[in-house]
Amino acid sequence: MTLPDGRPKGLQQVLEERGFDVHNLRAKCTPVCPWESTNCCMARLLSQQEDFMNQPSMLETFIKKTGHECIFLPKFHCELNPIEMYRYREVPKKTFQDAKCCAKEQLDACPTEVIRRFINRSWRFMSAYRLGLTGKAAEWAVQKQKQHRQVSQRAMMSIEAALG
Ligand SMILES: [Zn+2]
Repeated sequence: MTLPDGRPKGLQQVLEERGFDVHNLRAKCTPVCPWESTNCCMARLLSQQEDFMNQPSMLETFIKKTGHECIFLPKFHCELNPIEMYRYREVPKKTFQDAKCCAKEQLDACPTEVIRRFINRSWRFMSAYRLGLTGKAAEWAVQKQKQHRQVSQRAMMSIEAALG
């Protein structure tokens, strides 16, 4: 990814070396690329390449280097995010600083047992989705399986019976 003199290669050169014809392509869309496009610009095209897709971000690398885990949650799925189940959401926050303080205060105030329960609830949602449940059926299974981390075969059978 660098030139013989150590400077980083440009987008265009990297893509051309990979056999792409990019002479009619802009470097980057502003402000963002169109949803689900794969070749609107050079930046997007390169980000679709396998070695780039599997490249950890700077943020992820930094977090891991300090000895922490970095987990990305799917966007718009608050049911998979344990912190969303906690009071944090109800506390008014105006600035990023407010949000930072609030997250820390609320997490310190939360008993470990409660955090575990929230995490288990997220696990049950994941399990329900993996079994192909969505929407109300997933919610029902998560409620039904309160004592477990996963949605059981038996719960699946009652859902199938109810739907069938
Ligand atoms: Zn683009």
